[in-house]
Amino acid sequence: ANWVYSFGAGKADGSARDRARLGGKGASLAEMARLGLPVPPGFTIATDLCQHYYSNGKSMPDGIQRQVETALQALERVTRRTFGAGDHPLLVSVRSGSRDSMPGMLDTVLNLGLNDDTVEALARSTGNTTFAHDSYRRFIQMYASVVMGLEQSMFEDVIHCVKRKMGMTRDADLGARDWQAIIARYKGLVRDELGEEFPQDPFAQLWGAITAVLQSWMSPRAITYRALHAIPADWGTAVTVQSMVFGNMGEGSATGVAFTRDPATGDDRLYGEFLPNAQGEDVVGGARTPHPLTKAQSTDSGRAAMDIALPVTFQELKDVARRLENHYRDVQDIEFTVETGKLWLLQTRTGKRTPRAAVRIAVDMAEKGLISKPEALRRIDPASLEQLLHPMISPDVERTVIGRGLPASPGAASGAIVFTSEEAEEARAVGRRTILVRPETSPEDIHGMHAAEGILTIHGGTTSHAAVVARGMGKPCISGANSVRMNVSKGILITGGRTLKSGDVITLDGTRGEVLLGELPTVQPELSGDFGTLMEWADEIRRMKVRTNAETPDEARVAREFGAEGIGLCRTERMFYDDDRIRAMRAFILASDDDARARAIDTLQDMQKADFLELFEIMSGQPVTIRLFDPPLHEFLPRFGREMEDTALAMGVEVEQIRQKAEELHEVNPMLGNRGVRLAICYPEIIEMQARAIFQAVLEAGKKTGETVVPEIMVPLVAYERELKYIKDRIDVIAKAAIEEWGREFKYLVGTMIELPRAAIRADRIAEGSEFFSFGTNDLTQSTFGISRDDAGVYLNEYLQKGIIDRDPFLTIDVEGVGEFIRMACERGQRTRPDITLGICGEHGGDPASIQFCEAVGLHYVSCSPYRVPVARLAAAQATL
Ligand code: ADP
Ligand code: MG
Ligand code: MG
Repeated sequence: ANWVYSFGAGKADGSARDRARLGGKGASLAEMARLGLPVPPGFTIATDLCQHYYSNGKSMPDGIQRQVETALQALERVTRRTFGAGDHPLLVSVRSGSRDSMPGMLDTVLNLGLNDDTVEALARSTGNTTFAHDSYRRFIQMYASVVMGLEQSMFEDVIHCVKRKMGMTRDADLGARDWQAIIARYKGLVRDELGEEFPQDPFAQLWGAITAVLQSWMSPRAITYRALHAIPADWGTAVTVQSMVFGNMGEGSATGVAFTRDPATGDDRLYGEFLPNAQGEDVVGGARTPHPLTKAQSTDSGRAAMDIALPVTFQELKDVARRLENHYRDVQDIEFTVETGKLWLLQTRTGKRTPRAAVRIAVDMAEKGLISKPEALRRIDPASLEQLLHPMISPDVERTVIGRGLPASPGAASGAIVFTSEEAEEARAVGRRTILVRPETSPEDIHGMHAAEGILTIHGGTTSHAAVVARGMGKPCISGANSVRMNVSKGILITGGRTLKSGDVITLDGTRGEVLLGELPTVQPELSGDFGTLMEWADEIRRMKVRTNAETPDEARVAREFGAEGIGLCRTERMFYDDDRIRAMRAFILASDDDARARAIDTLQDMQKADFLELFEIMSGQPVTIRLFDPPLHEFLPRFGREMEDTALAMGVEVEQIRQKAEELHEVNPMLGNRGVRLAICYPEIIEMQARAIFQAVLEAGKKTGETVVPEIMVPLVAYERELKYIKDRIDVIAKAAIEEWGREFKYLVGTMIELPRAAIRADRIAEGSEFFSFGTNDLTQSTFGISRDDAGVYLNEYLQKGIIDRDPFLTIDVEGVGEFIRMACERGQRTRPDITLGICGEHGGDPASIQFCEAVGLHYVSCSPYRVPVARLAAAQATL
């Protein structure tokens, strides 16, 4: 078997296509060598070795030693150096690399091949004794920690100690003699700690390093990383042995990292960092602060940028970067070293980028013809778009993180800390911006959340009340920040070693879940420009329409701005929760006679009409689907003693009356209770009132704007076709009356949600009375599985962890079960009524994977929350590719 693949001097055994065998790093080195770019020559041992090593009790296969030695001899010939001997010693790095990059998870050893003899030869041949001994001590330090398992910090302590004794502060102040002294102490350290000498035989060093790289594949941090990123353990790592080039040979030498474009903004300019007179690990190590690559990029610091310090090499780097980007047709993240003015490339890979940069780059590359439009669309993760719809903290300001929590709702905002909703409102009234900090929020905090710029809660997850409400409002929210301690009575927050008082200013980065000190500048979302272009391209190719789930005018307006093509779900009951309305609703529920009941209904009707009229105006002629009242009645009654008393007082009834009613309406299992169409059949007054309000609003809207609105009236929770017929007959009667009364004709549609298995099975019959179907996949998932969404978190998480399920069915449609019902309902519905409109309005309507499924079954539209509309537009486009 062939284990070893050489590269260098314009040719290579492998190429970019060999990622699986050579790892990302090895494949990139081979590819760059083929392109004739300056790559230090070397060879890569394929991942097969790692696989063999672990499936054979950690033993090396026959013949590997021969192959490595042969490759090494070839390397000696091209570099005209000799390994472990001679006047010009060959030094190598031993590097890891898996198919998918695992940054910093696996080990690397540099300067291998140095010993007490070769270090002197290196000093002589380079004429630079300081450099030679600095390299040797680096090697001992790295080898002792990576291969021999000693703590890095012990070696750092030695250097510290020497510098202190000599009154020096910088490594650069140390000369050859100092390094020699340090080397002696390093060797002593190894002897004392391990009872053995530091290995002098270069071949022993080489096999030690190769084995260490293989071992690092099974290190705890690598295992954790693989679990988090779903990388299979049997891929294994490749091992690259590469001749050393030196960035630590003086001021004309350097090491660095370059991005072909700015990874934060996507700007088309070289971006990165470098360190003069240093080796690779110094950049990541953080001991020295790197310099910017370009003057344009430098913030201040006075550290000379590379375009100033090394102008010729910089220009060469810029040319290489452009070539690599054009070759790979994507942004590259390049590791390079400069050895006395000569540029060497050590790695290239696809550059990570922020969502904003991703859009910018994809659009720019497509406009320049480097990639196609569909490819540009394919490159954007739809879910990441949501982050672009909110203000963000400017990418180039310094951030002081003082606390962390869950990124519950994206965006950024600054304001003064307040601990109660009342304070937030008072501050708002005088024009002061606040951040509401609560242990957790409840419905009583809604007004405070409205008044505040952002919300921080100590408890709760990403589906907590605070999180859900904040997302609906489009405000940043961090939940579950349990490192933050809150003392409400003292009015203080303790976090990140600081004590903050009410009134102190903080900034929330809800996208990252970071609490930051002080006020930071933000950038507003940019819906035109590149984002707009990308959306246009998506709209050109998608087939499905995208509607929104909205009931308030604000939501409807936002959704239109984001490109919604109508409302797919208006949950009318949500319009009943504010103070006046809940009072009217309670009056209806508690009414002792028909008169009182009729009065309550009239009040509600006027309010609802105004609601609908406003929505129709905002949507100006686009379809609006109005779902009739859905929840069980008991949701509108006060729950607790105190609240019951207040309500009784306000309504002039006995507390006992309220208690009795609540008891009467109590259900053991409200999710399966008297709600939806069932409630409508028991209390037709409510939905009749709604139908009247809808028709009045249609007529008034027509008069006001001249626009014809065709409302889509949607009956929830239908299981029997006769349920729907019963309700539809009543709606038709009301429509007739309205037409007579106003003397004007209008059109309307009546349809149903498909959210129960029986409805899906009987879809052919139900379609006789239903002009559209909208899949209510939240309830359909609940009823298909027989589980409650509000309580399922506990065991679904367990299921995910134990591999029983791959995805939470409430986030992504369970294609095999729930999806099968959807398919069946589409087919049967269309059999009865070929032109039936099919849509989805559950939470899944904004989930890219579920949208893929919706395309496959041929739905006409998806409907999702306003901030998901652009996500859905892109996902719907991708689904057609
Ligand atoms: P990682 O996967 O953690 O990035 P690498 O194998 O890329 O590890 O090595 C880290 C750094 O070490 C490189 O970025 C480079 O600066 C330096 N390095 C590796 N091999 C060589 C070499 N042959 N010559 C000079 N520097 C090297
Ligand atoms: Mg690297
Ligand atoms: Mg439902």
